Amino acid sequence: MSVIPVLEADVLRRQDPELADILSGELERQSTTLQLNAAENFTSPAVLAALGSALANKYAEGYPGARHHGGCEMADVAERLAVRRAKDLFGAEHANVQPHSGSSAVLAAYAALLRPGDTVLALGLPYGGHLTHGSPANFSGRWFDFVGYGVDAETGLIDHLQVRALARAHRPKAIVCGSIAYPRHIDYAFFRSVADEVGAYLIADAAHPMGLVAGGAAPSPVPYADVVCATTHKVLRGPRGGMILCGGDLARRVDRAVFPFTQGGAQMHTIAAKAVAFAEAATPAFAAYAHQVVVNARVLAARLADEGLDVVTGGTDTHLITADPAPLGVEGRTARGRLAAAGIVLDCCALPHAGARGLRLGTAAVTTQGMGQGEMERIAVLLGKVLRGELDGAEAREEVREFTGGFPPYPRVPAAPG
Ligand SMILES: *Cc1c(COP(=O)(O)O)cnc(C)c1O
Repeated sequence: MSVIPVLEADVLRRQDPELADILSGELERQSTTLQLNAAENFTSPAVLAALGSALANKYAEGYPGARHHGGCEMADVAERLAVRRAKDLFGAEHANVQPHSGSSAVLAAYAALLRPGDTVLALGLPYGGHLTHGSPANFSGRWFDFVGYGVDAETGLIDHLQVRALARAHRPKAIVCGSIAYPRHIDYAFFRSVADEVGAYLIADAAHPMGLVAGGAAPSPVPYADVVCATTHKVLRGPRGGMILCGGDLARRVDRAVFPFTQGGAQMHTIAAKAVAFAEAATPAFAAYAHQVVVNARVLAARLADEGLDVVTGGTDTHLITADPAPLGVEGRTARGRLAAAGIVLDCCALPHAGARGLRLGTAAVTTQGMGQGEMERIAVLLGKVLRGELDGAEAREEVREFTGGFPPYPRVPAAPG
């Protein structure tokens, strides 16, 4: 028997075997299927240890040095450390590491800069905008007047002419750049120039590429945007959570918008884990990782095209690929289901041509597992075979199990005797 410390804590197994089995089952699932969900990653044992630390017990409303609760000595040190590391990592004047999620970060950014009813220009949801970019099912669409820009139907690239024209026509209070599915770098200087022209704030919702930015593998929005929102759990490989970066001029407004306006007590164990992840992301090893993520995505995109999938924008600059499986005679949702049965886990996403669903893949998790270009080629071939029906679900599942067995996401250590 071998165990993974933290992930398979003995105390939990003894006290609650039912729940322990569920957690082991999830670890087994993550270890024996291919994680191509573009928003997921394998966070380190050190990050998981911080999440499972005594700070999980601590109430800490407010900010370091100005808390509404007693006993915040260590919580304050932990949060100051996380803030300093975030600022150093991204070269930002101010960081707020309290947002509970990426969506909470965006909500706070809007609260800091806007009033209900203000006009906001953002990438439309059919083109890869996030729910918080004006979905009628989300607070954003209900409380603000969103205008959506799109991508060119032919190239799949953001339609810069349309962005400028809509900004001139609608005079938005804020412009949002950032997406859940756009595979190319975003031209932050362009968005800055449009925002300046119409007197709008620029909010970069960089949840996806922020890990690449940390590793120097993607351009940073920090010099251009008034406020940068991000998650810490995507390519950045930290705990689930959000953060906001901004200039010193907006620091107080952003902090007040997070607490007390949109959140209560900070989750100090998560903030501690964010600090661990920021330190990891500042290492040369992480920079090498971030660059490999992009190399892997480029190779995977090219090989998927060879397999006959229609890759949106013809490739990628990032960890993220969107592709239409229609040329193989299978629609996006069906494709996702067939791949899931084979143990290949990915998401559907909107495609630039309205109505159709495509596949969204990312290389952050498989790269953390140590996979390289050769493995990306193997994944593309496997995907093609499954989608064309050349391998049945059980055969493909067996191949994925054997394949992933060579790349365990967490090192196993022998269990202590007795
Ligand atoms: C992931 C993401 C979010 C939301 O993050 P959650 O932690 O799921 O709330 C917001 N915006 C963009 C662009 C994202 O990619």
